[in-house]
Amino acid sequence: MASLALRKVISQVPRNVLYLSTRSLSKNLVDTFSMEHATGLEKKEMMAKAAGNENPFDMRVYKRGPGTKTDPNIIPSAYEERLIGCICEEDATCINWMWLEKGDPKRCECGYWFKLVDAKPL
Ligand SMILES: [Zn+2]
Repeated sequence: MASLALRKVISQVPRNVLYLSTRSLSKNLVDTFSMEHATGLEKKEMMAKAAGNENPFDMRVYKRGPGTKTDPNIIPSAYEERLIGCICEEDATCINWMWLEKGDPKRCECGYWFKLVDAKPL
């Protein structure tokens, strides 16, 4: 009986409206389901994104500053070390990866200096 009533209601709704409604409903269900079952860092990442922080692990590309030893490029990290990549030349087709540790600044092969500083943990 209920299915007959539902079928009658659905037949009266334009198809494109029904499609959009079920699509947004299923997305919300998947998001809610994932958030409830996620744990650890994955859950923290989802919570940060839900709060509006689209880049919770700060994985964006930074433009280099002067990069001298006295004025190094500042790299934030919540950990004692972080893997960074330097595109040493503008036309370079590869990235020069190196580990950066908190403390003294470190010089890349291209001459730019980088320094790891404390960042607020997630
Ligand atoms: Zn470099």
